[in-house]
Amino acid sequence: MDDCLFCKISRKEIPAKLVYSDDEIFAFEDIQPQSPSHILICPRKHLPSLAEASPEDAGLLGRMQLIAAKLATERNLNDGYRTVINNGSGAGQSVFHLHLHLLGGRAFRWPPG
Ligand code: AMP
Ligand code: ZN
Repeated sequence: MDDCLFCKISRKEIPAKLVYSDDEIFAFEDIQPQSPSHILICPRKHLPSLAEASPEDAGLLGRMQLIAAKLATERNLNDGYRTVINNGSGAGQSVFHLHLHLLGGRAFRWPPG
C-alpha cells in the first residue's frame, strides 16, 4: 500500500522508534503517547482493520498479543497494562493499517471513554 503511513514505517520510508521487528510484525513508540509506555504493534501485511482479518490471520493476531505481553514484561509494566484495537472511526481508529496499542505505566479506568 503506497500511501499507508504504517506500511511506510514498515518499509523504513518514515522514521519511527522501533522496539520490535521480525518478518511478520514490527512495533514502535506511538508519536503521541497516551500513557508513559505506548507502543503500536503492527503486522507487516496491510490489513485496514480487524474487520478485514480472516481465519488465516489467527496466528498473526495471536502473535501480536504475545509480543505485547513480552514488551510489557521487558518494560516492567507489573501493575497492569492494556492492549487495545480500535476498529473503525467510531471506535477512534485514525490509521487504517491494523495495529494493537500497548498502553502502560499509569492506572486505567473502565469502561474506556
Ligand atoms: P488509532 O487511533 O487507533 O488508529 O491509532 C493510531 C495511532 O497512531 C495514534 O495513537 C497516533 O498517535 C499514532 N501515530 C500516528 N502517526 C504516527 C507516526 N508517524 N509514528 C508513530 N505513531 C503514530
Ligand atoms: Zn498499511
